[in-house]
Amino acid sequence: MGTQSHIAGYPRMGPKRELKFALESFWDGKSSAEDLQKVSADLRSSIWKQMSDAGTKYIPSNTFTYYDHVLDTTAMLGAVPPRYGWNGGEIGFDVFFSMARGNASVPAMEMTKWFDTNYHFIVPELGPEVNFSYSSHKAINEYKEAKALGVDTVPVLVGPVSYLLLSKPAKGVEKTFSLLSLLDKILEVISELKAAGASWIQLDEPTLVMDLDSHKLKAFTEAYSELESTLSGLNVLVETYFADIPAEAFKTLTSLKGVTAYGLDLVRGTKTLDLVKAEFPKGKYLFAGVVDGRNIWANDLSSSLSTLESLESNKLVVSTSCSLLHTAVDLVNETKLDDEIKSWLAFAAQKVVEVNALAKALAGKKDEVHFIYRLLFAAELICLNIFPFPQAAGLKGSEHRRATNVSARLDAQQKKLNLPILPTTTIGSFPQTVELRRVRREYKAKKISEEEYIKAIKEEIKKVVELQEELDIDVLVHGEPERNDMVEYFGEQLSGFAFTVNGWVQSYGSRCVKPPIIYGDVSRPKPMTVYWSSAAQSMTSRPMKGMLTGPVTILNWSFVRNDQPRFETCYQIALAIKDEVEDLEKAGINVIQIDEAALREGLPLRKSEQAFYLEWAVHSFRITNIGVQDTTQIHTHMCYSNFNDIIHSIIDMDADVITIENSRSDEKLLSVFREGVKYGAGIGPGVYDIHSPRIPSTEEIADRINKMLAVLEKNILWVNPDCGLKTRKYPEVKPALQAMVAAAKALRTQL
Ligand code: GLN
Ligand code: ZN
Repeated sequence: MGTQSHIAGYPRMGPKRELKFALESFWDGKSSAEDLQKVSADLRSSIWKQMSDAGTKYIPSNTFTYYDHVLDTTAMLGAVPPRYGWNGGEIGFDVFFSMARGNASVPAMEMTKWFDTNYHFIVPELGPEVNFSYSSHKAINEYKEAKALGVDTVPVLVGPVSYLLLSKPAKGVEKTFSLLSLLDKILEVISELKAAGASWIQLDEPTLVMDLDSHKLKAFTEAYSELESTLSGLNVLVETYFADIPAEAFKTLTSLKGVTAYGLDLVRGTKTLDLVKAEFPKGKYLFAGVVDGRNIWANDLSSSLSTLESLESNKLVVSTSCSLLHTAVDLVNETKLDDEIKSWLAFAAQKVVEVNALAKALAGKKDEVHFIYRLLFAAELICLNIFPFPQAAGLKGSEHRRATNVSARLDAQQKKLNLPILPTTTIGSFPQTVELRRVRREYKAKKISEEEYIKAIKEEIKKVVELQEELDIDVLVHGEPERNDMVEYFGEQLSGFAFTVNGWVQSYGSRCVKPPIIYGDVSRPKPMTVYWSSAAQSMTSRPMKGMLTGPVTILNWSFVRNDQPRFETCYQIALAIKDEVEDLEKAGINVIQIDEAALREGLPLRKSEQAFYLEWAVHSFRITNIGVQDTTQIHTHMCYSNFNDIIHSIIDMDADVITIENSRSDEKLLSVFREGVKYGAGIGPGVYDIHSPRIPSTEEIADRINKMLAVLEKNILWVNPDCGLKTRKYPEVKPALQAMVAAAKALRTQL
């Protein structure tokens, strides 16, 4: 018997983002479809080879995609919304990329976050005009392609029920529950895979870890009963991940007809382990996800091995906690990382080796090399913690907030700031020009001197300040020209952070992010933004907003150490930001914005865990500004408007002013307040969408402000765009802001 090892999925982008560059060059018309296909086939074959060389028994196929695996499923099922003009037949690049990215006449389909990850999928849109038909043979083609290379793979499909649950009805249409017609097509695909020789398939049903009602759980039972006869003769793995599976869902899962194997996330699912021990069905395969697909730390092999040994199943397969899609690709390309830090890490390629090392050990063929090495690693991490961070440790469970309540603070601030009613401001960044990027790059590469760099940045700030004065904006920003990225900028100046060269993770399509790694205690050796903010303030008599990224956002957009609770790391960051806030205040900055763009992102999937998260996340935010005087105005900013469910936590952040994205959903946001939620702090729901190059008119903006005034009191309302302007160009930004200020001024005269 070979070793029982499985990988749930693998990054598509390639170790050096080869797919990204191939895609973008194809989209730009600089290379052909064949070029793109060639790069992609090479990536797939090297991944299959690597997994097979490592001894992996169950190797996935169809986890590669040119854009998104949910969109692949949409193409497979022929669920193309009619506006993309598809007339049947095999779906090619033109229709596929039109759905993904839009084309000259039709915008792209909606995109949303894949559970609590930073990966975005294209939301299936199921209207009555969608007739499912088997229209992309990608899954079977990939299976055959691997087979021709000598690798027998496990084709991976998005499970039918999760696909439906993740879909939305087409505009103006009630949700049509077309589970049966969809199953028909899945049956066709599965039969074809079977005929081609597949002996296993993997159906990903991650929605099973959510709090599903009994109606939805029943849909799983029914769907798999429907599939049963086609599934017979195949080994079927239903894969779940990202959280503890609820007990009810576990029962449903383990009773599904036709299913022989269950994939469970044992990294995030600590309680799942108890369920497995108590009631895992005899005779079924357990794919135990013990190697973390969501982080970059090397596995503690000895501890994983004892978990595995405690499971006492003879049909036990060692696996990853989820697809490795959410981790970086290959550590070999990290040439600049400190060797010691590097020895603590494992990216996707290394995780494949870990899974197989564990499987071998489990089969009694322990390879001591791996284990000794990992033992050393564990010892080193313990050293890091010998001196627990004294301040942060005591924060949990305590309650820090500013002493004066928000309305009294707003009064004190108004005396100092003397702002008009409906004050105008922006969110922070101004357009990032090619020239600016060049200056930053050359400074980093030491091609220009510090003086030259400072001079260039100051000139840019001056331009931005002058523009805002000319536009007559009330509270100014410096434009963030010195920042590449709102997390990286702070991470680079805080201790406890490390940065990779190639640690990219797919965010959507060809876009990747490179999260910093928080490996140690976080502290702030010296001020990070005071120099630039004071320089900017000295250029104007209007209030200049200091601009910081909040602790929760820094945490949620990083790879975080896993040897201590996340809240502890968050508190450490909060204390560092607190020092910065106080230094800004000392330097004469009276308005400070602390962005929490990603606060909602960290919300746990399971409802039972959400309150705890919100409590420490909101507390961390408050800690950053408990030390300031009443007259210092604290702003925060958030990039989403669907916060109806967490509105009380947002109020509990106790900021003086909150600016929020609102461009696409006035109604959703305002309904919260219409329903009587009391909000006494300042609030600036974005008055126009910065994600589009479109320039709004004064009337249109005035109209939207009026809608807000119908719900919110005039003395708390701010007027601002819905996010930073860094992705826009000046010819768009100037007239848009002009219209915004004009609208605010016109309304002031009427109030
Ligand atoms: N201050 C940041 C900016 O304006 C905020 C960005 C964000 O919310 N994502 O760019
Ligand atoms: Zn934003």
